[in-house]
Amino acid sequence: MLIAARPAPNAASDPVGDAQRHPPRPLDAFRQDRTYLGADHARNERRTWIVAGVCAVTLAAQLAGGRLFHSMALTASGLHMAAHVAVLATAAGAYWLARRLAGDRRFAFGAGKVGYLAGFANAVVLAVTAVTIALESIERLFQPEAVDYGSAIPLAIGGLAVTLVCVWLLRPAQAAEGRHDHDGDLNLSAAHLHLSADAIISVLTILGLLAGQRFGWSFADPLLGLAGAGLVAQFAYSLIRRTGAALLDVNPSTVLAEEIRKRLQAGATRVVDLHVWRLGPGHHAAIAVVADETPAPVETYRARLEGLAGLSHLTVEVRRA
Ligand SMILES: [Zn+2]
Repeated sequence: MLIAARPAPNAASDPVGDAQRHPPRPLDAFRQDRTYLGADHARNERRTWIVAGVCAVTLAAQLAGGRLFHSMALTASGLHMAAHVAVLATAAGAYWLARRLAGDRRFAFGAGKVGYLAGFANAVVLAVTAVTIALESIERLFQPEAVDYGSAIPLAIGGLAVTLVCVWLLRPAQAAEGRHDHDGDLNLSAAHLHLSADAIISVLTILGLLAGQRFGWSFADPLLGLAGAGLVAQFAYSLIRRTGAALLDVNPSTVLAEEIRKRLQAGATRVVDLHVWRLGPGHHAAIAVVADETPAPVETYRARLEGLAGLSHLTVEVRRA
């Protein structure tokens, strides 16, 4: 006996009209709709666009300043800022796309994962940044260049100030702490981690420059650059792992899976197969196959999972034990 909980969608091209013609069915009460966007989607999208704007304005100022003062350092930090504009536009664009595609029936499980794809791409950019900083630092270590400390230090401090404002704007919403989204919004995390890493690198750079200016330690700047590169690489690795796991449907929460198993296994019911995966920030799906000597209607099993935080889509199959 097989009781499938999900009706088969039949129209792919007309999401809105289709949703109106097929209102949610009782068996699919968990589904409501296929909008698996994070609870803070609108807030995070708005802030990501604002930070992208801040970076774009800073970029324009740095490039103009570089031309005006013939400063290579300003032009170089302008190029780094251009990378930030790209990273933040990717993150913000993913929020926009996820929202736009939220009701699109071509996506079997909604478009809540668009943000993970952007997060993964931005994590790869972060890894490339780490390698670039490391190579540059090694080169500087063996072939020291004359540093114009007088202009480099204020420049680094100005960059740090802008970065700190961006880090503050991109902080995760406080409410996210108490919710069932263990990993939070990884799209926001990727942008936030990149800028946090930059803030730390800026601090190290300023320390290195001050050591060079005060004590003539020209090796301090590249050495601290190497340390910063190691840190950025660590951030990138962790992000690639987390976003990759979400994209590849690795079980996101053993706690949630155990809770589902525990609730379903009331009385003589046995869970013979259980799949749990991520649909979007704070949203999970589950397929459970239960076996019972005297099978009850599928609603009985679904009711046991009613109100389970973080479970947004459920399919139950009932078999005779
Ligand atoms: Zn950066």
